[in-house]
Amino acid sequence: MLKVFLHIFIFTWLSVSCFGSEAHNFGSLKPCPIIAQSSGASATTNGGELKTFALTAEDLKSAVAKSVLSIQNRPFKPQAERLVDFGVSKENLLERNMIGGPFRNYKDYQDRCLSRVPTEVRTYVIAGLSNVRIVLPETYAKKLDRRQGGEKHAIAHSAGESAVAGASAAAGEFMVLPLDNLQNRVSPQDMPQLIEQMPDPRYFKRIFISDQANPEDDWVTQIYYPKGFVSATAMTEGVLNLYKTNLNNHLRRDVMHEWGHELRYKFWDDPVRERFHDACQVETQWNPRAYAARGDSEQWAVLGERLIGTNTDDFMEACEKAPIRTSLWMVALRKCLAEVPANCRSIDHTSYVERLQYASKEARGKAISQLRYLSTEGKTQSLREQANRVLVYLEAN
Ligand SMILES: [Zn+2]
Repeated sequence: MLKVFLHIFIFTWLSVSCFGSEAHNFGSLKPCPIIAQSSGASATTNGGELKTFALTAEDLKSAVAKSVLSIQNRPFKPQAERLVDFGVSKENLLERNMIGGPFRNYKDYQDRCLSRVPTEVRTYVIAGLSNVRIVLPETYAKKLDRRQGGEKHAIAHSAGESAVAGASAAAGEFMVLPLDNLQNRVSPQDMPQLIEQMPDPRYFKRIFISDQANPEDDWVTQIYYPKGFVSATAMTEGVLNLYKTNLNNHLRRDVMHEWGHELRYKFWDDPVRERFHDACQVETQWNPRAYAARGDSEQWAVLGERLIGTNTDDFMEACEKAPIRTSLWMVALRKCLAEVPANCRSIDHTSYVERLQYASKEARGKAISQLRYLSTEGKTQSLREQANRVLVYLEAN
């Protein structure tokens, strides 16, 4: 069975259009203010005018539900101590030359523009995640090492120590790649905490951190976009690739998106994948984001951003507006979580279980009801059959 494993997650200056104007308020969730005001409490405005308000039982229920369902967008916490081992070896890395397009087809692009170049790479093993490897070109690893040194000197400088020491430490390679360009780059020590937020942290077998653009970008640009897209992350089978990726508030979402692709691959032979395809045909009124319209695979990955993302409102909206797709996605998540050994569980495992329960309660019944209707009243025979297949699957799972 042909699987298309390469998924590019487009995300640079043009990502404004990719993500649209749907501002994701990552990290903006605040603790629900259910303690501050009790039912029937009063508050005073600036003008001294008393204004009364009351929290209804429904408000409280909603606030409690949101609080339980919240997932923290954790600040990045480098864990260099987790990188217990590394070695240097040679690998043939894919590189893009300077030949410009247009290209007749992907093979033409591949033949004329891509080649494998023997390159020294550094490999890290993560303590506690023994099946995950972090790999990066040795030259880049050394620059990141130097950055660490530069940061230490910068701290010493701000504390009133020698500015000259900092300047000399930042010389050399930073003359070629200025420190500013590396300042926010993802480094291996940022990965352990990030990976452990995934519902099954073992899905990424290898994380490749590159200081180059994705060699496939120009081809993706030609087939999908008018110009200049650059991908920050991409997923091939079990391999997460990070291209000049920076630490930012979107990184968890981007990596979770790629993890979502991997979840779909894990259940490639489970009927849930084909039923999700059916669901995308019968539940068409709402998309989690415009990018999802590219096909089943992106529908799945983008919906996943919401279902296990840090914005509780986004999660609840997906349950409400896409109950059928949500219910199917949650079947896969439930099976995934059931397979994770207790000692490998995500640091957000409990939250994911809570979200499963919420979706089971709030989305599943709605999905079943809509599917029952569509299986008899759908506009075409094909839609009725698709609705019925999803209905049968959901009722059995
Ligand atoms: Zn994707």
